[in-house]
Amino acid sequence: AKENGKNDFQIFMPFMLMKNLKKIEIEKSLKKAIEADQFELYYQPVINLKDMEIHSVEALLRWVLPEKGIISPLEFIPVAEESGLIVKIGEMVIEKAFSDLKNWERKGISYLHMAINLSARQFKTKFFENMVQKLIEQYGVDPKKISFEITETGAVENFDVSLKILSFLCQLGIRFLIDDFGTGYSSLIYLKKLPIGGVKIDRSFISEIEFSKENRAIVEGIILMAHKLDLKVVAEGVETKRELEILKEIGCDFAQGYLFSKPLPKTQVEKLLLARKIT
Ligand code: C2E
Ligand code: CA
Ligand code: CA
Ligand code: CA
Repeated sequence: AKENGKNDFQIFMPFMLMKNLKKIEIEKSLKKAIEADQFELYYQPVINLKDMEIHSVEALLRWVLPEKGIISPLEFIPVAEESGLIVKIGEMVIEKAFSDLKNWERKGISYLHMAINLSARQFKTKFFENMVQKLIEQYGVDPKKISFEITETGAVENFDVSLKILSFLCQLGIRFLIDDFGTGYSSLIYLKKLPIGGVKIDRSFISEIEFSKENRAIVEGIILMAHKLDLKVVAEGVETKRELEILKEIGCDFAQGYLFSKPLPKTQVEKLLLARKIT
């Protein structure tokens, strides 16, 4: 047993070191990236299934390394959260999104709403709601055009803090959506104690809706319940025409996914926004 323990130790150590080194390295370059403004927002259109017109865009963060390529938020958001850098990065995301929304409004795209992702840590930091209020005034955006996307866990954890921050921002006119809905364990009834405007059904349920009776039943159930509770429903990750047909059939309100458009840099998404309909 002792022998084994020793072996475990030898295998374990280098792995841990590597992992930590990587984290420290990412953290260091994240700090530099903030200074060098290497973050960019891509935008993915969200379609209103009643008239098939674009209703909003979701802002999705990209870390653009010159000559090296683009790093996915899945790789650096966790490090940003752990190191606390998410506060700065998150504020920058909101600022860029507000500024782009305002610019589009000036170009005549006045129908457009904007959805912004918040990490659980980020929206519960001190003065988050004051920061948002300040940026709303500074950029002159209509808060009714803004939704914040938070996860179930993020919403329900530290419930009282969530309730306080969400209520404050809700009173300004901002809406909250529950992201990745269905992957957590909280119930809609519990979430309804928070001022939530809608849910986004996770891609994992949508991608099998054509073939899996169970998935279809789950999605139908979520939509029925959500509507009874006066919540809107967005389907994420719609990739095929058949998925879209089914979602329309069962009364889903909004959809986004590669079928309509991948997330695009702002200059590219603008063409779609001006046309308003994706053909
Ligand atoms: P999410 O909020 O669930 O965003 C949806 C993800 O699904 C995006 O990945 C999007 O590009 C991808 N997607 C959209 N349509 C399709 C589709 O039809 N098929 C497939 N296979 N994928 C699709 P992305 O952009 O890599 O973002 C990953 C996650 O990173 C997001 O998941 C969100 O949780 C997080 N994230 C992105 N931007 C931000 C941000 O500004 N702040 C924070 N805190 N998190 C962010
Ligand atoms: Ca999202
Ligand atoms: Ca998702
Ligand atoms: Ca997600």
